[in-house]
Amino acid sequence: MGASSRMSGAIKSVADLIATGLVRDDAALETVAQKYAAGITPDVLALIDKTDPDNPIARQFVASPQELVSMPEERVDPIGDLSHSSVEGIVHRYPDRVLLKAVDVCPVCCQFCFRRKMVGPQGLRTMMISRCWRR
Ligand code: SF4
Repeated sequence: MGASSRMSGAIKSVADLIATGLVRDDAALETVAQKYAAGITPDVLALIDKTDPDNPIARQFVASPQELVSMPEERVDPIGDLSHSSVEGIVHRYPDRVLLKAVDVCPVCCQFCFRRKMVGPQGLRTMMISRCWRR
């Protein structure tokens, strides 16, 4: 099965999300989608029990206006990538290994993601690998 057929039925927008009945129409959801994305893969969608308002799978993957609330103790970079990234797209935390972030965009918004503020639509770009070697 190809990638395009596997993604058939994917949630790609707030309108798609509303059409599933998982959320009510809420202008704040568009703001969430612009900041973090609002996609859900068909496989994850199939795991959600839409009759359960507290479904744990939905709570992990369905965009919520609560995403717009930040607490003072929250950090933009909770795992400290930025202090280990002297070159865009590379995290060099340990002396013997390097994390290469070839693509820094993600169409979904996992509630547990440590990097979601980096990979949402505002982070939409593919790393230019050539930039790594010029510095
Ligand atoms: S990058 Fe974050 S939001 Fe995207 S799939 Fe991974 S954990 Fe989820």
